[in-house]
Amino acid sequence: KPKNRLSAQAYIDGILKGDRVILSRAITVIESQLESDKNLAKEIIQGILPASGKSIRIGITGVPGVGKSTFIEAFGKHIISEGHQVAILSIDPSSQRSKGSILGDKTRMEELANREEAYIRPSASGDTLGGVANKTGETMLLCEAAGYDVILIETVGVGQSETAVHGMTDFFLLLMLAGAGDELQGIKKGIMEMADMVVINKADGENIKMSEMAKLQYQNALHIFPQSESGWTPVVSTASAIKNIGIETVWNEIKKFKKVVDENGYFEKNRNYQKIQWMYNNINEELKSLFYKSPHIVQHLSKLEKDILSSKISPVKASQKIIEEFKNSL
Ligand code: GDP
Repeated sequence: KPKNRLSAQAYIDGILKGDRVILSRAITVIESQLESDKNLAKEIIQGILPASGKSIRIGITGVPGVGKSTFIEAFGKHIISEGHQVAILSIDPSSQRSKGSILGDKTRMEELANREEAYIRPSASGDTLGGVANKTGETMLLCEAAGYDVILIETVGVGQSETAVHGMTDFFLLLMLAGAGDELQGIKKGIMEMADMVVINKADGENIKMSEMAKLQYQNALHIFPQSESGWTPVVSTASAIKNIGIETVWNEIKKFKKVVDENGYFEKNRNYQKIQWMYNNINEELKSLFYKSPHIVQHLSKLEKDILSSKISPVKASQKIIEEFKNSL
């Protein structure tokens, strides 16, 4: 056990008291790759679990440059002004390669980072999105147990990370820009479909008119999607993160959303679904890695590949055969 590690109980007590230093150290344990830390991490999670969950979890996505950190800085300050405590986390599976494109340095949210009511934690690193998502998900639980009642999870609008963030949040916010041409260009339909709210940022100066037009176009686009199970109709608004305009509107819509989904039971239903799904996602990943890491399997797979190419065996038969072998090897 690395020295300077506390006992599990000391971490748990510290977190429950809202001690930020202990919280940070506990997150480091969660993120640790050391075998010796894994049990400690499990004990900490187990200990704080009953105190977790009492928050609104908000996912925020948008392409680099859309103004996510500027927005979060303004948004976070507004939330704090209403008496909340906000934790800001990120999922950035690319952080290892690119050395962090989001939340890389706290200077991007300078004022917020200095507020006692805000806790900012850069993205964990990891080899797989699943691994990174696990760490962020557990970090979120720790933050909730420490008293943060609003959780913002930021991600870059690329790849699969939105799905991961959507899978661990209650409300999904998409930041967009009014473009010069087709407003809907380049937006993945799947991401639009996940959005509970679209905010057209940088609606200031010469951009105002274009942003209002973009707003109408997004409103029309969102109407094409089938009604969500949440009973909430996605809203579109404009904002200027830098000028602090339209920020309050976003928070007010989130409050309205919370009321709707509390009343119709969707909030709890979705949280329950997400918990169970979290387990299954991990089972799927673990099984896959167990399978493909087996030297015996790897060897047979390369032989099967050859047999498939020489038409000795069909792809379906080959897959059944290797699964059979895997079962026998257990
Ligand atoms: P991120 O990559 O999505 O986190 O974007 P940033 O928050 O770093 O912002 C990218 C650039 O856009 C920065 O130069 C910001 O100053 C600028 N920016 C952010 N929000 C606004 C806004 O509301 N209006 C204008 N005009 N610029 C903004």
